[in-house]
Amino acid sequence: DKRQRIDKILAHMGFGTRKEIKKLMKTGVVKVNGESVNNPGHHVYPDRDVIEVNGQPVVYREYIYLMMNKPPGVLSATEDRLEEVVVDLLEPEHASFDPFPVGRLDKDTEGLLLLTNDGKLSHHLLSPKKHVPKTYYAVIQGKVTEADAEAFQQGVTLDDGYHTLPGELKILTSGPRSEVELTIFEGKFHQVKRMFQAVGKKVVYLKRISMGPIRLDPELELGEYRELTDEEVALLK
Ligand code: URA
Repeated sequence: DKRQRIDKILAHMGFGTRKEIKKLMKTGVVKVNGESVNNPGHHVYPDRDVIEVNGQPVVYREYIYLMMNKPPGVLSATEDRLEEVVVDLLEPEHASFDPFPVGRLDKDTEGLLLLTNDGKLSHHLLSPKKHVPKTYYAVIQGKVTEADAEAFQQGVTLDDGYHTLPGELKILTSGPRSEVELTIFEGKFHQVKRMFQAVGKKVVYLKRISMGPIRLDPELELGEYRELTDEEVALLK
């Protein structure tokens, strides 16, 4: 395994900026294998060496996996010149891992957004070849019928001529405003909105409720997030 600078490890684990950590280390509270270490450039084996801050062991890990209930009005991005982004909603102890959103939800879309710094896992979930299912709850202006469900089952042609893969439409309520759940197996730009546009209807509310094996935790309010459990991470791999 690879050696790393102690200040880098502590920054990753959320103990502050490099500068703050340098100051912290000067006070003598950082120990490696029981010995006080003052030099921020000191190298350690993160998997092997015992690091302590103020007598508390620091359990190093490289990756973080979060699920957020994305609120409307926030961009699925790590930074933007003007607008609020989802990583702005993270506590410093999670933001220090530099997680990024796994794919995108539209600014006005709510619901399940995974964030991680595990590029391999993100790639796996987003790969067009993998057909990872994504399920959305939507409110539709217009009466959604079985004919729409059948159309989606055949795939529909979007405004740019792309013919979608089959989608599974479950009609929850049908009326002047309808409620549905739609599962799709790909992720084209604005796909759910454009699939309904293709059958002459308009999405007025959209929320993602699952991605692959992960369902949005109903305990999470808009803007809240939690770490995935080890079981959930294992399901994703
Ligand atoms: N489909 C959309 O139209 N918007 C989203 O945010 C996600 C899927």
